[in-house]
Amino acid sequence: MTAAFGACRLPPEIPPMPSAVAVEPRPANFVRTDVLPVRLSAVEGKPGVLVENAKGGKRWFEAEGSFVRSSSGERANSFTVEPENALRGLRLGDRSYRGELRIEARDAGGLRVTNHVPLEAYVEGVVAGEVVLWSAEPAELEAQAIAARTYALESLTRRPLAPFLWDDTRDQAYRGIFLPSNDGEVKVALKLARAIEATEGMVLRRAGALYDSRFHASCGGHTATLGDVFPAESVIFDGSVPCAPCRAIGALERSRGEDRGKVAWRAHFDNARLDRLARELRIGDRLQSLRVSRMDAHGRWIAVECRGDASSRTIEWNELRRLLDAGVLKSGVVHVTSPAAGAPITDGLTIEGVGRGHGVGLCQIGAHALAVDGSSASQILAHYYPLAQLDSLSPSGREPVE
Ligand SMILES: [Zn+2]
Repeated sequence: MTAAFGACRLPPEIPPMPSAVAVEPRPANFVRTDVLPVRLSAVEGKPGVLVENAKGGKRWFEAEGSFVRSSSGERANSFTVEPENALRGLRLGDRSYRGELRIEARDAGGLRVTNHVPLEAYVEGVVAGEVVLWSAEPAELEAQAIAARTYALESLTRRPLAPFLWDDTRDQAYRGIFLPSNDGEVKVALKLARAIEATEGMVLRRAGALYDSRFHASCGGHTATLGDVFPAESVIFDGSVPCAPCRAIGALERSRGEDRGKVAWRAHFDNARLDRLARELRIGDRLQSLRVSRMDAHGRWIAVECRGDASSRTIEWNELRRLLDAGVLKSGVVHVTSPAAGAPITDGLTIEGVGRGHGVGLCQIGAHALAVDGSSASQILAHYYPLAQLDSLSPSGREPVE
């Protein structure tokens, strides 16, 4: 970690949006780092959308075959809507967005809306979506801002065919502009703005390239290696590290028998749900047993064997989480199952573990605890991304595609 915090300052105004941003095809050999395209999941496929605070007032758009029709009667392949006031942004549903909104018709029907948002405004909206702001320490917000900025840009360099980010957990939770509604939230908004300003343009790199700076809510005691958890994106190095705060919180919650703590969890699936899983996996009509078939070096479940009444299949743990409900089956750090691994399932399956999310990269609960104990953002990042260095984005406003 070499760069100094607080060396950069935000310009006093939001930079003007280049008018050609939404219509100019992006050359395939670089991604822009000044403005990011973010697909808004809440309106994906909707037949119509209302955009407020636009230049000229409210505008309604609806899909008409492969075209979009606006409330002013115009019909076009796409519309790019600019805000009346850059700071207040555009209103869509219960959220507001800086930059522009591009509205197109989807081949699959309905509309798609993409927010072409200035980088730092995007990072602010992600930190607001990913961190519990009221209790957050400045160093934790700064570390999250650098991780989120790097993750977004690095992801885009790997997506030349689909150069956009989703605004949900498929990429990062992005909530648009954080608009305070009371005095307490005004203080929170100032704290958030300071963290973005203090880290403007700062990213993590390894050997000069943007780092794959994933993050998650809680590692459960030890973070995971990217190549273990996401084998399709395998890398040869091991960036996993111990996380004392998660280990301590998880152990305390388990000793108290908590099954819905900050770190500890318990999930139960009844026979009907498990039998549906067996049919989804095409291993029969009944799930007879489940056992771990591969773990990482620290006990995190990576793959499991699902045995049905017709056959068995080994699948990635992440796939099982997705099929059964990742909101309930919270991580791969499993401590105990009932019945025990491989034993016949007769009355449902209970799984207990610790952690939230995939476990790769920065652990948000750990980062919060380190910040409370006085660690700086660069120390937090050095702990969770031991192979990366802190650096600045190129002033050219572009990064090469991998
Ligand atoms: Zn942790």
